[in-house]
This record gives sequence, C-alpha cells and structure tokens, in this order.
Amino acid sequence: MRTSGTNLEHARAHNRRVVIEAIRLNGELTRAELARLTALTPQTVSNIVAELGQAGILSSHAPRHIGGRGQPAVPITLNPNSAYSIGIHLDHQTLLIVLVDLTGNVRFRRLCLVQKPQPGATLALIKQLLAEMKQQVPVDWGKMLGIGVVMPGPFGVEGLSSEGPTTLHGWENVDVVAELAAATGLPVTLENDATVAAIGERFHGVAKQLDSFIYLYIGTGLGAGIFTDGHIYTGHAHNAGEVGHMVVQPGGRLCSCGNHGCLERYLSLQAAYEACGLDPMTAMPGDLLQVDQTRFDRWIDSALPATRQAINILECIFDAEAVIIGGQMPQPLVEKIVGRLHPLLRSVRSKYREGHRVRIGLNGTDTAALGAAALPIFDEFNPQYEVLLK
Ligand SMILES: [Zn+2]
Repeated sequence: MRTSGTNLEHARAHNRRVVIEAIRLNGELTRAELARLTALTPQTVSNIVAELGQAGILSSHAPRHIGGRGQPAVPITLNPNSAYSIGIHLDHQTLLIVLVDLTGNVRFRRLCLVQKPQPGATLALIKQLLAEMKQQVPVDWGKMLGIGVVMPGPFGVEGLSSEGPTTLHGWENVDVVAELAAATGLPVTLENDATVAAIGERFHGVAKQLDSFIYLYIGTGLGAGIFTDGHIYTGHAHNAGEVGHMVVQPGGRLCSCGNHGCLERYLSLQAAYEACGLDPMTAMPGDLLQVDQTRFDRWIDSALPATRQAINILECIFDAEAVIIGGQMPQPLVEKIVGRLHPLLRSVRSKYREGHRVRIGLNGTDTAALGAAALPIFDEFNPQYEVLLK
C-alpha cells in the first residue's frame, strides 16, 4: 500500500510540474488548452489549477469570449511573485548569484571576482551575499523554493576530476549541498554547468519548444546537457554528457585526463585561450574579443573537424531535434564558430536543414546562474511546493 501511495504522490507532483511548465512555455493557457497540451484529463487539470490557484501560484484572468455554447475560456498565467529561487554559479574566476521569480525575472544579481576560489572563503562569501540579498530584496522568503548551485564537473571521477584544469581544485571533498542547506534551511541542488545551462535553455531560450536536444556548453572545458523526451538525463553519477573527454582524435593533443585527442583540447575556452596566446589561468571569455581575430579564426579552423565529429556522434546516438551550442564564450564568437561548421557530417539528422540541426543558444556570463535558478523550479518533487500549497 505504501508503494502505491508514494507513486500517487509522485504522479501528482509530476502532473503539477507539467502544468506549471506548460503555462511557463506558453505564457497563458486555458484549462482546455492545458488538457490538450499535457494529455491530462480535464478533471485532473481542473484539480491542479484549483490547487495551484489557491496557493497563489496561478492567476486566472478575465474570460476570453468564445462563440457558441460551452464554458467561457479563462486564461491562466503564472503569478511571478508566488515563488522564487536562487541560482549560484561558481567557476575558476567568478561567483555569480541571482534571485529570480517564478517567471524568470531577475530580482537580484551580484557578480564577484574570485581567483581560484577556495572552499572556506568562498562559502563564507556566498553566505554573506545571501544575507545581503535577503536584506535588499523585498520578497516573501517563505516562498523561496530553493537554491540551485552550478560548478564545473565532472564530479568525483578519479583522474578526470582531480587533475584537470577545468574542475575546481580543493573542492573534491566539500559537501557544498550540505553546507548551504545547513546555512539557509533551503533545499539545495548541485549540478554541472552544462546540465544546468540546458535546463536554462529549455526555460528561457531556443529550446523552449524542444523535447529532445543536446546542449554543448563551451566553458573552460566542454560539457553537454542532454534532454530526452522533456527530461534531463544526468547519468548514474551525474556525469552524463562529459563529452569534453570523448576522444575524437586518437593520438591527438594530450589532455589533462591522460588521454590524447579529447574533444575539449580542440573546442573549449581553454583551447581558444592557448591558440590565441592568452594565459588560460587568468584569461576571461571577453578577452577573446580583443585578440587578433586572424588567430581566433585559425583556432576555429583547428576546432572544426573535432566539433563536426562530435555533433555527428551525438546526433547518431540521441537522434535529438537539435544540437545547441552555447556557454561562456561571447555570442559573436559562437556565431562565428557555428557559421563555419557547415557542411556538417552526414548522420541520422541529415534530412533536416543544417540551421535546424545546430542552433545557437544562450551565451554569456549569466547563462549558468539563470539555469541554476531554474533547478528548484524544475524539480517536480520539490518539497517546498508542498509548503507553498499549505
Ligand atoms: Zn580528456
């Protein structure tokens, strides 16, 4: 009996998230439209809308006039002030904290420079910024769904995590989730940057209408966020999509992981910095806009064969609707790379236009932090929803 009860609870939480997500993607929907889009019964939709309406998460508006008989169609939207979440993005040089409301409006944003961040000092800084945020932003903190944290992966992989230049040194044994949960009393979710950026893309970006896509995140290294049938795929140990260490050039450039020819030795900020004569330990993504562009173009040339091969592999494995390229590299430079990818290699997606197969995603400093803030909202079993509904 207990098992079936749990299943029912999970089904309810899942259906609630499906309804919230459908409205978020479409702006406003009527009950009939919701039932059609979610494949839930009209009765289930009515129950969920009533429940979420009572909690103030959904707002009903003046009926649209429809001709003929039947109930007037009442448009339903999300109430932005009914729930909030916090996104934290930590990487080698910066710490970014944002607070967003349920519809994704940014209500607080703070960017700090942190060179090679160490756990003790960084966690203290995060706690201080959260306290400042609480003081400055006039929101109901009882409606805070939680905190999403994003740090570069991979997590806990011997050889891949402790040696590489792309993961954070000194954080291997730090339980960030437990530390922040204890400090704030909020649910905390930790994910790698590529997964989080993919979730952000589905919430705010070009993937709004895509159920299956691969998001290639160009950070210091390279990772992929994988969406299949509307669900993020994270793998057994949250390391799915570590495509940066996929060998695309056997015998090629030496990687910090010990392999030769890993994809991120060709396509990553690190690879671009090296090719453009910048110091990878101190360079920032924006510096690539200042370098001699013939050098940058030469780097693109060197990255293209490996990138095309990676896209071919990902398309053949996942048959996803699109490969989206985004991350921390400045937008004009990503446009340059994507503009020169063609012709792509043949794959199971060959019959689609190349502009559909590869698309440009959200880019820039805020991508991962906004995605992190979407984590607590995206979590269909978020216990805070239950608190809000009381
Ligand atoms: Zn490698």
